[in-house]
Amino acid sequence: ECMINQKNYELGSKSSAIRELFEYGKLRKQQIGEDKVYDFSLGNPSVKAPSIVNETLIKLIENNDSTFLHGYTSAAGDLTVRSAIAKYLNEKYNMNTNASLIYMTVGAAASLTISLNALLNVNDEVIVFSPFFPEYKVFTESAKGKLKIVNPSIPSFQPDLDEFEKSINELTKVVIINSPNNPTGVIYTLDTIKKISQILNKKQQEYKHNIYILSDEPYRELVYGNTQPVNIMEHYDNTIICYSFSKSLSLPGERIGYIQVSEKCENKEEVFTTICGSGRSLGFVCAPSLFQHMIPSVLGYTSNINEYQENRDLLYNELVRIGYDVVKPDGAFYLFVKALETNAASFSEHAKKYELLIVPSDSFGYPGYIRLSYCVKKETIVNAIPAFEKLYNDYKKIG
Ligand code: PLP
Repeated sequence: ECMINQKNYELGSKSSAIRELFEYGKLRKQQIGEDKVYDFSLGNPSVKAPSIVNETLIKLIENNDSTFLHGYTSAAGDLTVRSAIAKYLNEKYNMNTNASLIYMTVGAAASLTISLNALLNVNDEVIVFSPFFPEYKVFTESAKGKLKIVNPSIPSFQPDLDEFEKSINELTKVVIINSPNNPTGVIYTLDTIKKISQILNKKQQEYKHNIYILSDEPYRELVYGNTQPVNIMEHYDNTIICYSFSKSLSLPGERIGYIQVSEKCENKEEVFTTICGSGRSLGFVCAPSLFQHMIPSVLGYTSNINEYQENRDLLYNELVRIGYDVVKPDGAFYLFVKALETNAASFSEHAKKYELLIVPSDSFGYPGYIRLSYCVKKETIVNAIPAFEKLYNDYKKIG
């Protein structure tokens, strides 16, 4: 038997379906060549960071006052940096926030784990809308909470709000929202957000305690066309935003983001203090100093998202032309496609025959689909189209 933590042993030994495919892809590329493998597994930004990122870093390093640049900041992050973020948010989103409501983190993953550990008591329930980012389950359970899954309405892939209302009970503490969404690319409509807010306000009164929305927003700026994500804080007071620069600035390896507690959150000071305590107990104090100091100069910049939009249009149109059933995406860099057999894992396995690496949807809490990350080189998509055609034809013959 195992004397050390069994749950974490399992998490460590079973890597996620996404990571498994990614590792398989690396091996396969060594065997048959980089350009022969069509790897749509991982959401690793393919567009380079805007030049202001490196320019700012170089300036910071050249003016090196190393105790400033490489020293510890406050546990919640450097005050000047947090003030600059607050000022930017106030101007851009018409908010009224300040540094005392912003906690710097090592990306959205940390923003989520810190917030969940701050909000949850043992057995509290966390509602997620499927399909969802698989780590929500890991983060919720490690914070001793219970995950409750609410299905989408088909074909819009907006949450099923009747099911949502029925899933709330006296143990519900948190609702996680992710729009633009991984894995569907769907943006929740104003109507969806308004109804979620109405339902939650009613339930807060009924159960006489706060229910918090955790809005996971790494894809906030990755939007194509006219549909903008709704600013949830405008519609629901007890909101906490988990933000990350990983995707907007193509910096996922640098690990930088923040938590923002709404200025309208009922017990905002208490929540922020608890976030500080949670960060402390998890060891998530003082996000990387160099990247914190870079942030004020790059607020408002994004990587060139036109490249993602071109990829989206190309891949979406081609898959639809072939005959695939694809969820129409408005943001992020994923396509959610109906598998051509009931078992998505077996469909993904079959796709390897044509060197297509596509993630089965089961770990997203919704069966029967596959996810494609289109943050890849354009030529990968162009070269993969015949493979998608062959894959489709295999099933047409059976069907
Ligand atoms: N949340 C969602 C929905 C994501 O897709 C990701 C990364 O892919 C994360 C959180 C984690 O982001 P970060 O790299 O900022 O920790």
